[in-house]
Amino acid sequence: MTLQLTHYINGQRSPASARTQATFEPATGQQRGEVSLASASEVEQAIANAKAAFPAWAATTPLNRARVLFKYKALLEAHADELAELITREHGKVFDDAKGELTRGLEVVEFACGIPHLLKGEHSEQVGGGVDAWSLNQALGVVAGIAPFNFPAMVPMWMFPIAIACGNTFIMKPSEKDPSVPLRLAELLTEAGLPDGVFNVVNGDKEAVDVLLTHPDVQAVSFVGSTPIAEYIYATGCAHGKRVQALGGAKNHMVVMPDADLEQTVNALMGAAYGSAGERCMAISVAVAVGDVGDKLIAALAPKVKELKIGNGLDAGMEMGPLVSAAHRDKVKGYVDQGVAEGATLVVDGRDIVVDGHEQGYFIGGCLFDNVSSDMVIYQEEIFGPVLCVVRVPDYASAVKLINAHEFGNGTAIFTRDGDCARQFCNEIQVGMVGVNVPIPVPMAFHSFGGWKRSLFGPLHMHGPDGVRFYTKRKAITSRWPTGIRSGAEFAMPTMK
Ligand code: NAD
Repeated sequence: MTLQLTHYINGQRSPASARTQATFEPATGQQRGEVSLASASEVEQAIANAKAAFPAWAATTPLNRARVLFKYKALLEAHADELAELITREHGKVFDDAKGELTRGLEVVEFACGIPHLLKGEHSEQVGGGVDAWSLNQALGVVAGIAPFNFPAMVPMWMFPIAIACGNTFIMKPSEKDPSVPLRLAELLTEAGLPDGVFNVVNGDKEAVDVLLTHPDVQAVSFVGSTPIAEYIYATGCAHGKRVQALGGAKNHMVVMPDADLEQTVNALMGAAYGSAGERCMAISVAVAVGDVGDKLIAALAPKVKELKIGNGLDAGMEMGPLVSAAHRDKVKGYVDQGVAEGATLVVDGRDIVVDGHEQGYFIGGCLFDNVSSDMVIYQEEIFGPVLCVVRVPDYASAVKLINAHEFGNGTAIFTRDGDCARQFCNEIQVGMVGVNVPIPVPMAFHSFGGWKRSLFGPLHMHGPDGVRFYTKRKAITSRWPTGIRSGAEFAMPTMK
């Protein structure tokens, strides 16, 4: 019998929807199950349940909400191997990488455990004679999250731990490519003691998303995915009066200065470009070789790219698994064809690799392009595969100009031994997350994650302080107690005396 991946509403898995879609194991190319695609009325039902659960959950003390998350943290740790295996089976990334993803999500749960502290408002005594002023941070109500395929655990966990810790109820819409982990994350929340209806998972496609974007009872939407959809989510959600944070695509550059430590740089590039088969929004897809470093860089990279250990992510010792789907594998191959046609030098060609015993899997080998220029499509567009483009520039200023002109501004890094140069780079680069000799500068859970330019729509980033701000609304209170109120009415704009 086919594995049915349905929804999780009101503390239980629901029956399958009328519309379903096959899910696959990318390493074998075999069908794994069927994911339900929620109808508008199924989403409306989930929203109604979440709305009903909201008053009691919002009234639960922050300390008791945090206690549920403390138990959840322990459960996630106890189930880490099981969850990581599910990620690897449905996404394809290697098992250690799947565990790393889970850890980064778990860190947001740990951050959210501090919610009693994080929700504290500000207080000013005696803003006027006998008058005090303070602020409260209160929950919004029902909020929704929409996630991409590439981090089926971490991206949902960027959102819901903080949202529910703040007292909201939540509807998660995972990617239809890998829905198993979000469903298990929901079951474990119930096991941790979360009341039914506080966290719900609705699987589906545009039909489900459009209900979340337009329904009057959804107060806020967090989205992570590709830029065209992020832009649509932002425009539609805002037009319907919601708070929206919509994170989009990326093209992350790593500047390699002539004085960089070559071994450190090459190792960093290998992990950042080919880890998770390049299916990371913070993957490095462009190496900007400054001055005469290009030849040395290519000479050191090429053999390592050829020797990547590629196979089923569940097998020990693998460095790279398959891409998520046959269609995506073909799209990535198409970009490599295009790069060759555009005149870039394909130093390592991974298009035709076959993994023994996994002939039907969606594999592509590491690809390395040299002499890429900014007018090429392979430079301009996000490929989201194991394809590294090397662009050669004469000097530091040209590297900065190149990066600042790109439409995306998610992450970037500079590799150098020159502190002055790195400091200047941090100051003038138009990118949201910057690494100095750190290739993938993903902020920790207690900071906030977000890009600039067309990598993020909306003012607030994910998790950390911005996450708490996003999932709460402020209320400002000014109070005076009886002794001061006998002075009669005042008709001028109030100022404190
Ligand atoms: P995607 O945009 O195709 O899908 C993301 C979500 O949107 C899914 O849940 C999907 O069901 C939904 N969706 C798709 N089409 C829709 C439509 N027409 N209307 C409404 N909803 C729709 O993205 P993906 O392929 O799953 O993920 C890869 C992309 O995500 C890459 O571009 C990557 O850079 C980006 N990403 C960005 C970040 C970041 O932090 N900026 C993090 C991870 C992934």
